[in-house]
Amino acid sequence: MLAVTELVKTFPSSRSEKGGRVHAVDGISFQVEPGQMFTLLGPSGCGKTTTLRSVAGLEAPDAGEIKVGDRILFSSERKIRVPANERGLGMVFQSYAIWPHMNVFKNVAFPLEVDRTKKLSRSEIKERVERVLAVVQLDELAGRQATDLSGGQQQRLALARALVMEPELLLLDEPLSNLDAKLREEMRFELKRLQRELGITAVYVTHDQIEALAMSNQIAVMNAGRIEQIGKPRDVYERPASRFVANFIGTTNFLTGKVEEVTAEGARVATPSGGLEVSSPAPLARGAEVTISIRPEHILITPLTGGAPVEGADWIGAVVTRAFLGEVVDHLVSVDGVEIRVRCPATKSIPPGTRVQLEFPRQHCLVVREDL
Ligand code: ATP
Repeated sequence: MLAVTELVKTFPSSRSEKGGRVHAVDGISFQVEPGQMFTLLGPSGCGKTTTLRSVAGLEAPDAGEIKVGDRILFSSERKIRVPANERGLGMVFQSYAIWPHMNVFKNVAFPLEVDRTKKLSRSEIKERVERVLAVVQLDELAGRQATDLSGGQQQRLALARALVMEPELLLLDEPLSNLDAKLREEMRFELKRLQRELGITAVYVTHDQIEALAMSNQIAVMNAGRIEQIGKPRDVYERPASRFVANFIGTTNFLTGKVEEVTAEGARVATPSGGLEVSSPAPLARGAEVTISIRPEHILITPLTGGAPVEGADWIGAVVTRAFLGEVVDHLVSVDGVEIRVRCPATKSIPPGTRVQLEFPRQHCLVVREDL
């Protein structure tokens, strides 16, 4: 549906920076399958918006190719650049533009009324507008002047106006950023449901990893103008390819050590606090220094009551502090001066000062690359 190949976009650097240009997008490639929600996820300044604006036609890339279906929208080699208004894409950006002189209903109905290719009857338009307004929870405000809406309501109106066109490709740049936490969560589900029901293909830009995990079919994790990993939400969470990805998505612990022995499943690694059986996506060599990522919820924690000595056991430590997070509790456990975060259900919460043993299931101890 959408194919972006070797896309490069640079900007002149500001006077304070020495020489050269800012590589906002540094040769990225990805494909989006029809009907999928594809998310560009990464920290501020990593090039997500520039990528999306290039697809929209609002930025002129330096190099690469952008195709939607069989249509080439941009090609540096063939010197093609289709203007934004001829690309036929739906867009909702952080800075949404609504028509101030129209009411809510009219704002959404207007693009359908003026689109001669759709040839919809008055009742069909009404039906579609009402459906979309219900989804974004603006149905009760249909008669209100657009300028009398709150920021969050205006953002939902902008979303409704793009959705009502049922575009073949919808570009969304942080469309939920102005909503409060509760509404944001509801809208995630609604937006995902609508996108699936209407079979819309969407590219979604966010720096919010929870939003990306909840909504996407595929996530591309971006760092400094490049894509570090593309995968299903579960894969990027459970199989992060790099330290950056593991750190950016969710919470994790990094442990460093040396490969003692290579095994069929991965390796045995010696760390200053104890030995670990680890999994690795790539072959490891004996003696190699490795970084291991393990998520707090995957570590097993057992209180050692009665002061029973655990002869020769690794990973004996003490709970330094704990934080109640609702359903779960995070514990900071110190093992030989190394601090490790361990998450467990609130019902199993362990008070500070308690001696504990930690266990690290091999399948969750992943060797990650320091950089890609
Ligand atoms: P955010 O989440 O903060 O919007 P982003 O990941 O979308 O960040 P971009 O807006 O794509 O990042 O910016 C990528 C890089 O390009 C940044 O270093 C930014 O300062 C730079 N940049 C973007 N637009 C311009 C411009 N018009 N002129 C110069 N530099 C720019």
